[in-house]
Amino acid sequence: MASQQSDDDTCFESPVNINRRFFSSSLSTSPKSMTAKRNHESSYDTVSPLLRQLKSTSLSVQENGENERSVHLRRRPSVLDEKALREADTQSVREQRISAITRSYEGILGSIGEDPSRQGLLKTPKRAAEALVFFTKGYEQTIRDVVSDAIFDEECENMVVVKEIDIYSLCEHHMVPFFGKVSVGYLPNKRVLGLSKIARIVEVFSRRLQVQERLTRQIAEAIAEAIEPRGVAVIVECLHMCMIMRGAEKVNSRTTTSAMLGVFREDPKTREEFLTLGRIKPF
Ligand SMILES: [Zn+2]
Repeated sequence: MASQQSDDDTCFESPVNINRRFFSSSLSTSPKSMTAKRNHESSYDTVSPLLRQLKSTSLSVQENGENERSVHLRRRPSVLDEKALREADTQSVREQRISAITRSYEGILGSIGEDPSRQGLLKTPKRAAEALVFFTKGYEQTIRDVVSDAIFDEECENMVVVKEIDIYSLCEHHMVPFFGKVSVGYLPNKRVLGLSKIARIVEVFSRRLQVQERLTRQIAEAIAEAIEPRGVAVIVECLHMCMIMRGAEKVNSRTTTSAMLGVFREDPKTREEFLTLGRIKPF
């Protein structure tokens, strides 16, 4: 959906609904064309065994009036199979990384007209380098590492909502912060995820260069893939410093993005329940 940005300010379109992929399908598609589409897609997909089991719970009910489930394959590479983009920082790797970024920041200080040798700035390039490495530590982590020891068999059928988790991220277009809150909900299907792991998933994806739309989708997909629930819902509200500090028109407006998968997408009542339970207060 609206996740390809070429223009400076397209990242501020809001609200954006990201309704996707492995639970979902267009309800207007006829069963016949659905089959054709699926066959076509499966010819080039790399789909993990986990994802082959993901099911759309209400698609068939709506289309055929029958209470059968249909497997719907997902087009993206597996989130759980994703490798870390950056080597985990051992002491020597870290030192090399910090000194390379430090040199870059020295150049930047000169380029903006500053005197990098004046007292107040002497240690700034190194401090800024260390800060940037911290702000992007999500590149060293994978979702598999985060969730692998925290998936539990549980007969719970009720909605699980973790609300207003803090997010601090960097906009990939300007490399300045955007920050806010995320609420996450899911409907278990015999498995639950340790509650603290939801915040950890949010942390891994947000400590990277991001656009809010992709961040929202990635959180939903990671949870869907990890525990194959009946549905996942994610809503994110953020303030973007690139919008506020650059004096763009919609100063101080919060950008809202959401991803609804499975029953959250198909069933308005379930979605409504989540939006009430997970409501993000003004910040
Ligand atoms: Zn930006």
